[in-house]
Amino acid sequence: MTELFDAVLFDRDGTLVVDVPYNGDPSLVEPMPGAREAVDRLRAAGLRLGVITNQSGLARGRFTADQLAAVNRRVDEIFGGFDTWQICPHDDTAGCDCRKPAPGLVIAAAEALDTTPARCVVVGDIGRDMGAALAAGAAGVLVPTPVTLPPEIAAAPAVASTLTGAADLILRREALVTPAPRPAPAGTTSAPAATTPTRGAVTPTPGAATPRPGGAGSALTGIVPVPRGVAAGTVLVVRADSAGDVLVTGPAIRAVAHGARRVVMLCGPRGRGAAELLPGVDEIVEWRLPWIDAEPGAVDAEEMAALTERLREVGADEAVVFTSFHQSALPLALLLRIAGVGRITAISDDYPGSLLDVRHRVPAGIPEAERARSVAAAAGFGLPPGDDGSLRVTGVRHEGGGEYVVVHPGASCEARSCPPETMRRIVAALAAGGHRVLVTGGDGERALAAYVNGGVGVEVGRTSLTEMAEILARASCLVVGNTGPAHLAAAVGTPVVSLYAPTVPYGQWGPYRVPNVRLGDAGAPCRDSRATVCPIAGHPCLSDIEPERVVAAVRLLAAGAHERTEVAA
Ligand SMILES: [Zn+2]
Repeated sequence: MTELFDAVLFDRDGTLVVDVPYNGDPSLVEPMPGAREAVDRLRAAGLRLGVITNQSGLARGRFTADQLAAVNRRVDEIFGGFDTWQICPHDDTAGCDCRKPAPGLVIAAAEALDTTPARCVVVGDIGRDMGAALAAGAAGVLVPTPVTLPPEIAAAPAVASTLTGAADLILRREALVTPAPRPAPAGTTSAPAATTPTRGAVTPTPGAATPRPGGAGSALTGIVPVPRGVAAGTVLVVRADSAGDVLVTGPAIRAVAHGARRVVMLCGPRGRGAAELLPGVDEIVEWRLPWIDAEPGAVDAEEMAALTERLREVGADEAVVFTSFHQSALPLALLLRIAGVGRITAISDDYPGSLLDVRHRVPAGIPEAERARSVAAAAGFGLPPGDDGSLRVTGVRHEGGGEYVVVHPGASCEARSCPPETMRRIVAALAAGGHRVLVTGGDGERALAAYVNGGVGVEVGRTSLTEMAEILARASCLVVGNTGPAHLAAAVGTPVVSLYAPTVPYGQWGPYRVPNVRLGDAGAPCRDSRATVCPIAGHPCLSDIEPERVVAAVRLLAAGAHERTEVAA
């Protein structure tokens, strides 16, 4: 029924009800403004509802368990009953796995509601709530109150000014990835009408539901099968930038594959390795698009003619073009039109004229994976039942536990890389804390990896993307900046400690649907600058990260792994 989330988990005090410190008296329970309406709307949308609450007053003897139960019953009365209550009775001295920002309450609530943290969204008023959400791999929406600290607001993956706004945001994200009706195939009249006018009929090829052998992933074992449909014939999907961008587009491509007989992916050379790992891709066309590539060559008329011809050879019935915020789909749409593609879907804020059949628009701040899914949904494609919308690659999956911590010091641009001396101190602190550490580096990062390693860990030189995926799958977690390997870790299900420069929003580009901890100064002056070279002297957003914070983050994520094992047992 719902595409994105199964459940909304609310903090209690300061979120659902007015915070009365250590309240043991049900008569003092008062809902926050708009809270009942917001809860009702989310319930009416088919979402299950839970409460996750730290109640250290129990440990401190400020109220009794009976008083707490009476207060919670009153909250249930006011809001029409929650589907699960998860309560931490400990204080900070207990070192438990449940006191937020530990992820235990989120994991237990998801389990009680028969879902996973990845399909839950946590709504709370302080940083501990968001920390617990992220550490469990759930989404989070912060609704600040006067007690919320500015750094907590800056670090939140999403912020709404009221619970009404939080409900709006959750329901908008649901709506964005809910597939639009497909246009009626030629010659039929009974199928639902498309909401967007289309040019050219889409003619499905009957009786050809079997995907072609020899697809891109066929050399790998353990291919994740994507149930295939026939409605859309051959669909060309496009994501022409780097590996991380291709990986976050994976769920959208699986949605297309679920509705298509054959999926051909057009990617650039920087994204080719990732495209080869994506479930649902049958064939790859690699081309460097001069209007997308970060270091573009000159536009050459013959090369554009050759690309157009190559696109014509694909024989696509339709195309779904995925772009990032600052990229334009229109130059490619023109070539696709010339190549005879009948139906083209893309995001375009610029007027597309007759270049697009489905012109899609997305508000800012939506996670990139959902932004891509919303493009697929606008074209009429949704994920198959049972696909939870996480990032994925074929054949490699984190099994829990983990033999070592991976530290990847490199980043695709300078503004997002942690200073090497900071990374070196992080590796030393992890090793001192008893962790086995692997330091990885890409092309040209050998000297960096050796310096950061400082002789205490194990260096891993240049690896293919598949090898890197296998290394990450066996790790307990990855420590990394905002760069490709963070998305690769998410795609194999390995938790991430993100040393995150706030040049782009965390809620859009942070590790998606995988347990994570955000570190770094979220309010630094480079925030939302999209800078590739740090504009601030001293690179303060990342250079001030205390190595002990990284060690603590690794411990928090390990607590989540422990909690998941307990719940599963
Ligand atoms: Zn606890």
